[in-house]
Amino acid sequence: MQPKEHQPSALVFDLDDTLYQRRDPYLAAFHACFGERPEIPEDALFRKSRLIGNEEYERRIRGEIDMRQMEIARTARTLTLFGITVSDEEALTFERTYAAFLEKVRLRPAMIQILDLAKSQGRVLGILTNGPTARQLRKIEALGLSRWFSRDHILISQEAGASKPDPAIFRMMETRCGLDPAGTVLVGDGEETDILGAKAAGWRAVLLVQPFLPQNPADTAADLVAVEEAGLLALLQAEKI
Ligand SMILES: [Mg+2]
Repeated sequence: MQPKEHQPSALVFDLDDTLYQRRDPYLAAFHACFGERPEIPEDALFRKSRLIGNEEYERRIRGEIDMRQMEIARTARTLTLFGITVSDEEALTFERTYAAFLEKVRLRPAMIQILDLAKSQGRVLGILTNGPTARQLRKIEALGLSRWFSRDHILISQEAGASKPDPAIFRMMETRCGLDPAGTVLVGDGEETDILGAKAAGWRAVLLVQPFLPQNPADTAADLVAVEEAGLLALLQAEKI
């Protein structure tokens, strides 16, 4: 009798700030709208934008504000901290500019290496992302992710009718991709959405850490922490996940 072959774990990736980084398009939009501002520390600006962006996203999920109000609030609140006051229209212009830059994003070479290796290891690959379906699909297309992910292995919260960390969206992903929860690893940057959601669903979780994101890797519920793409690549090469 043949010994049972080792099955490598399935890998499900978050999209934003995991498969690609929002820092560069955010700063490009900032400079396009407000000019060069050498006095403003870029990493601090982006980190604040993510913290405030998450808070306003939570308010929208709770039904307290709509998409337009969320976009105005996250931009106006962030910029105020750096001494820039914007009207609602100016905030929305920044948001449109940012959205345009987001559609020009490219994968980092290290992420291409990770995805190629994961595929060569015979892993099931998926994407589980919170956001509006059309917008997320445009980014997925710009990134060329169809090379590794088929459309039926991509689940977006708007089409699912549930968002991470709701266990319902993790169950839908399992059904869609034929996943065994214990043999599935979620890779993401968000503690509340990705890591706590995956753990509640019985998956393993890897927190992908970037120096310019508001994260606290010393206090994460993740099984493993990967510092930048190089850390994730090392975990895959060593088959620790
Ligand atoms: Mg993310």
